[in-house]
Amino acid sequence: MTYAEKVMENLREKYSWQPVFLQAVQEVLQSLKPILEKNPVYERYRILERLTEPERALSFRVDWVNDKGEIQVNRGYRIQFNSAIGPYKGGLRLHPSVNMGILKFLGFEQIFKNSLTGLPIGGAKGGSDFDPKGKSDLEIMRFCQAFMTELYKHIGATIDVPAGDIGVGGREIGYLYGQYKKLTNRYEGVLTGKNILFGGSLARTEATGYGVVYFAMAMLQARGESLKDKICVVSGAGNVAIYCCQKLLEIGAKPVTVSDSRGMIYDPAGINVEVLQQVKERERASLTRYAELVSGAKYTPAADYPEGRNAVWSVPCFAAFPCATQNELNLADAKTLLANGCKCVAEGANMPSTLDAVHEFVKAKIAYGPAKAANAGGVATSQLEMEQNASMQSWDFATVDAKLKQIMDNIYTNAAETAKEFGEPDNLVMGANIAGFRKVADAMIAQGI
Ligand code: NDP
Repeated sequence: MTYAEKVMENLREKYSWQPVFLQAVQEVLQSLKPILEKNPVYERYRILERLTEPERALSFRVDWVNDKGEIQVNRGYRIQFNSAIGPYKGGLRLHPSVNMGILKFLGFEQIFKNSLTGLPIGGAKGGSDFDPKGKSDLEIMRFCQAFMTELYKHIGATIDVPAGDIGVGGREIGYLYGQYKKLTNRYEGVLTGKNILFGGSLARTEATGYGVVYFAMAMLQARGESLKDKICVVSGAGNVAIYCCQKLLEIGAKPVTVSDSRGMIYDPAGINVEVLQQVKERERASLTRYAELVSGAKYTPAADYPEGRNAVWSVPCFAAFPCATQNELNLADAKTLLANGCKCVAEGANMPSTLDAVHEFVKAKIAYGPAKAANAGGVATSQLEMEQNASMQSWDFATVDAKLKQIMDNIYTNAAETAKEFGEPDNLVMGANIAGFRKVADAMIAQGI
């Protein structure tokens, strides 16, 4: 049994109730084989055992009062996974499915993603099982204040800098920041994704969606292809999906789908991003509203999806951008995409493809950009926001966007060259995992036990 297999077996015994965490670890450990074989020092320093155990995992109670005056109790978490190369950094997710296992998967992924950006940031993730759907503005505010009343003790501009994720956008970051400031009397870059009025960075809102398109462009350029005039499918209808569609349209590609947890839109004329923003960002409505506003757009409720599978993946396309959530694209979906001629998959969401779907894409040698490389634009731009806060500056949109594009190009080059170095030039899963791992592992060794 190899070193990686031994570590994996041990984790399976210890954390059998955290399947998505085990899935994320397995994907990474499988692709680290060649670097572990070449460098026994990693086993001697027990790097895998140390990397797969968070430095600190906080769990706390969040009490708040709803509009009817009733007391509500939620669970809050922050996983400070690894700080070898910088302060902890990673988003906060508000979704009823949130638990320790989901946040450990996200925090673990974040270590390698942050390392790949080339910036000095460690890995973390947090959130709560609070469900923001159907809550009033005041309820969201009271929850955010209660959540921060515990979290503030553990974060700081050079300690741990949270950002948004599912269910956490500009509004929530504003309420969290206001409470942090009130509790600490400090005006500092402790959260990213802030409003531009109080320390936010231009282009942060757009960064993950734009970044995933920049990454796809880099992969395709290396193959002598491009997205221009190509049909694309996008899943999700939140922050990442909206700005992925916007950038695709800007570069002359045609995104024809978006989806949320209740259904999907197929719009053969190309997604109308202004209408999508109105429906999702301002009205916070269902996608049925998009179909009401755009003639020719077709809405399919999730209940009508064939065999419960996301119908987005059965729309023939040149490129696919999963931008909703984990495990939203399975082996059958991967086969359908490939059979319909899909040549590029770039992941905006974290771990949207199941392990067997990932293997299918790698085997087919299409341009496949795994999440930790393709969606790193969000956290990279968050770090640019930290840089601006620390130096009391604000850069214009074009400056931040140009830095983002450069970072995405660098991530692609780093992953592609590392894949080549280890003998599998088309395998960006291997390239991204090894490149992200090497920097963190070497930093851990250099810092001693
Ligand atoms: P949002 O909350 O803005 O949007 C999430 C979208 O995905 C919504 O349309 C939501 O639909 C849909 N969705 C969520 N869960 C499910 C589900 N179980 N089934 C079907 N649809 C679902 O989140 P973001 O756009 O910020 O995040 C999307 C993905 O991108 C996540 O995986 C996140 O971790 C990842 N990511 C985000 C970054 C960022 O900067 N925001 C950075 C890097 C990665 P509904 O509203 O109906 O629930």
